[in-house]
Amino acid sequence: MSSRIKILPDHIANQIAAGEVIQRPCSVVKELVENAIDAGSSKIQVIIKDAGKTLIQVIDNGEGMSATDAVTCFERHATSKLTSADDLFSLVTKGFRGEALASIASIAQVVLKTKQLSQETGIEIHVEGSKITTNTDCVSPVGTSFEVKNLFFNIPARRNFLKSDAMEFRHIEEEFERIALAHPECAFTLHHNNQEVYNLQTGNLRKRIVDVLGKSANDKLVPIEEKTDIVSIHGYVLKPEFARKTRGEQFFFVNNRFFKDNYFNHAVNKSFDGLIQPKYFPGYFVFFEVNPAKLDVNIHPTKTEIKFEEDKFIYSILLSSIRQALGKYNVSPTLDFERETAFDVPMAWRNQPAVEPVIKVNPDFNPFQNTTTSNANKTVSSGLSPAIKAQGFGQTNPSSTDWQNFYKVDEQEEELTQNQLIESSSIDTVKEFLVKDRLILTPSKSGFMLIDRKRAQERITYEELMAQFVNSPIHSQQLLFPFDIELSKNEKIVWESNRNLLQRFGFHFEIQSNQLMLNGVPSCVQDESIHLCIDSINETIGFKEVDKGEIAHFVVLSIAKSVSLIALKNKIEPSYLIERLFQCQDHQYSPSGKRILNTLTLEELKSKL
Ligand code: ADP
Ligand code: MG
Repeated sequence: MSSRIKILPDHIANQIAAGEVIQRPCSVVKELVENAIDAGSSKIQVIIKDAGKTLIQVIDNGEGMSATDAVTCFERHATSKLTSADDLFSLVTKGFRGEALASIASIAQVVLKTKQLSQETGIEIHVEGSKITTNTDCVSPVGTSFEVKNLFFNIPARRNFLKSDAMEFRHIEEEFERIALAHPECAFTLHHNNQEVYNLQTGNLRKRIVDVLGKSANDKLVPIEEKTDIVSIHGYVLKPEFARKTRGEQFFFVNNRFFKDNYFNHAVNKSFDGLIQPKYFPGYFVFFEVNPAKLDVNIHPTKTEIKFEEDKFIYSILLSSIRQALGKYNVSPTLDFERETAFDVPMAWRNQPAVEPVIKVNPDFNPFQNTTTSNANKTVSSGLSPAIKAQGFGQTNPSSTDWQNFYKVDEQEEELTQNQLIESSSIDTVKEFLVKDRLILTPSKSGFMLIDRKRAQERITYEELMAQFVNSPIHSQQLLFPFDIELSKNEKIVWESNRNLLQRFGFHFEIQSNQLMLNGVPSCVQDESIHLCIDSINETIGFKEVDKGEIAHFVVLSIAKSVSLIALKNKIEPSYLIERLFQCQDHQYSPSGKRILNTLTLEELKSKL
């Protein structure tokens, strides 16, 4: 009997493993920079060409490798960081699986140059598709340099799967920032296509955060600090007024390793309760020190989740330490028990000059004067039901004639209107009703129709804009004063890489460092809704990796949302809105997929009685 089972050759096994470890260029950056940290480097240079598709090079000044190790390091499960399974519980290094280099070498052309302090010469090794092609002595400073060229050269499908250079480089930057933030004791540089993107000198954590985020960050940081037997926490949160609509600057590190955690994130949000608006996200850089034995380190190489044995305890420590910090730095008025709360002024008002209160007095007021309104008041009272009277409505002195007219309803007349609503066959005579400014209730042939005004307006604006856009660029209005808004790095990429499209929509802008300066906006966007519109664009296309084709949809959707909000304030006649809604191609659903209208049949209505 022949056997069908075969052991896979190493290079294929490595390629398969590589699929898990190396998903895109940023994974290579992460692995190489982490190795450099593990090698005890104090200076790490990262050089990227074409978002890592052509070259990723990491040069460090760490301990280097011996001639033998320089060869062995490319083998699968080759690691110097773990000798027994027990070591898993006392790990202080980033790596331990011994998979990264074997994986990288199977899907790229790699050049390694390395030298240890004790050696006269360095070693140079070339590897391609897992095979060592060159192994010679070379001149090299102490430390290690890895060049990874033409990533996925032998897996075209993976190469095609890569996103635009802007997007891939953003991923690289993100990995780089995570490691750089965790290691302020190490100097880093990052170059992309011969341009310096980062040059980070050594220093403390605050300096590193400011160097990564930009100078303005310095005033935004509130330090946090807490030490217990189970966990030590230190780091910074951003003051509440710098909370953003998109998750941006949110970093957790445990023993200097970046991780993501919804549970702890909840604790941070909770500590900001009442200080930031709903749907805004606080920024934070939180470092946990935990005994490695109390962590599940056997995590997937590319996953950023980590399991903590004592997560509940850590949750409450985190919550209280942030609350305490916010209280101490006067940003949380109710939490600081040592200070007079009466002196607390919300942050946003702090630097404003005090405004004298204005007292409004009617100089003509004469309490003894008998006005004609008292007569009218009688009419009002007599027209009200006892229940309404009991609540005190209509018993004050309505001064304007509108009020009088409003209440002057003949009981007979009221009954008649109600009868007409349900039973009269000449139903067209009844108008639309507006409920709480949001819903329109209008009779239809079979009963009633309920329409969501906001969603209807969004649909109308969306289709109008789309129709315009398809035919020609949307008309732009020049702004008298440019509108400035700070962008996160991801947002900046979105604006830069979709410049042409956004211009067709009427957005004319410049970007300087992380400031977006708008000179022109679509003419339908009014001044008061510009901010809303930009926020909405950032939120919808922020970093979702939406397809190019979808971007137009999201941009129009954002414009439609902001335009609709203003349109709704200008009380449009419900009948006009309904008429326009029914001219739309789709009047059932809003552009974001929510139901616009529904009907209630007469039977359904009657069953309520
Ligand atoms: P791991 O980091 O999990 O051990 P890697 O495949 O990333 O596995 O690396 C294999 C080994 O190669 C490491 O354990 C280390 O001994 C060595 N090595 C890798 N990069 C460097 C470097 N920059 N400096 C010194 N040694 C390195
Ligand atoms: Mg490693």
